[in-house]
Amino acid sequence: MAPKNWTKETFTLNTGAKIPAIGLGTWQSKPNEVREAVKAALQAGYRHIDTALAYGNEHEVGQGIKDSGVPREEIWITTKLDNPWHKRVEEGINSSLKSLGLDYVDLYLMVRPSGHPPTSQTDNHSTGPHPPTPRTDFTDTWRELQKLPESGRVKNIGVSNFAIKNLEKLFASKDFKTTPAVNQIELHPNNPSPKLLDYLKKKGIHATAYSCLGSTDSPLYKNDELQKIAEKKGKSVQQVLLMWGLQRGTSVIPKSVTASRIQANFEVDGWELTEEEQKAISGLTERFKVCGDAWLPVKVFFGDDE
Ligand code: NDP
Repeated sequence: MAPKNWTKETFTLNTGAKIPAIGLGTWQSKPNEVREAVKAALQAGYRHIDTALAYGNEHEVGQGIKDSGVPREEIWITTKLDNPWHKRVEEGINSSLKSLGLDYVDLYLMVRPSGHPPTSQTDNHSTGPHPPTPRTDFTDTWRELQKLPESGRVKNIGVSNFAIKNLEKLFASKDFKTTPAVNQIELHPNNPSPKLLDYLKKKGIHATAYSCLGSTDSPLYKNDELQKIAEKKGKSVQQVLLMWGLQRGTSVIPKSVTASRIQANFEVDGWELTEEEQKAISGLTERFKVCGDAWLPVKVFFGDDE
């Protein structure tokens, strides 16, 4: 079978919707960078953009979309409801739509509240005009999210940073009706989470891989095995990391604000990793996680696969 053209590929969700396999991440993009990055990505052919209310950049993302000239209906847009907004779902989605300048998003993700009670430190990751809410029960938030698709403002709903035990709690909750279409989680060869991926597959939940390159200052770029494979294929380590994620059946959302990298990260058509190469990468034994429990970049050195 010929290798896939991943830039045109989609994954079909449990709702029947089709999420483009590669998207542009926008976290930690500095002000004024995102608008250009989104425009460059869409003009290069990307059709999937990932943002969040907490990134404080939805307005710029919306401007980049308009600048690109690509029709709205051709683009998949994901945004997220973060911890301080859990008790204000209506306000959260309306704020996101207003900032983006859109009347709907394709995917709205409920980010699992961090394990810590909100403090000024854990809330650094979030912006918003209100003080943080007290400790949240995400099953209450999900009840509210389930109502959103009826209004047309949200086409699909999903979760982010949900481990197996969190999903089990959600499924067992009193008002649970809609299985999340997506779980967006940290996935790269040093945090491969095979048990969680298997579980999601069984439940019909698509996984999107965030920090799929290992995030800022990724230690993966220096990995010998990855460098060896990249050299053999005539590809960059970043392209190999993206292909590994795609061939595992996950969508990938590499972030870049650099036009040449945005372009390079999209060069994943017409080649593939062999089964042995894929296995060798899956077999890397080092472990690190970029995002700790407050979804801040901390580089924690352990795996969370339960
Ligand atoms: P990534 O793994 O996408 O790595 C981004 C870093 O890699 C940036 O420093 C970027 O630099 C650099 N980079 C990108 N492409 C290349 C390349 N070809 N060569 C060399 N360096 C490159 O990290 P993120 O943590 O940003 O994750 C991706 C996205 O996932 C986020 O932007 C966000 O949208 C989402 N996310 C979701 C979370 C959640 O809790 N749901 C948490 C974290 C992320 P530069 O930009 O300078 O080019």
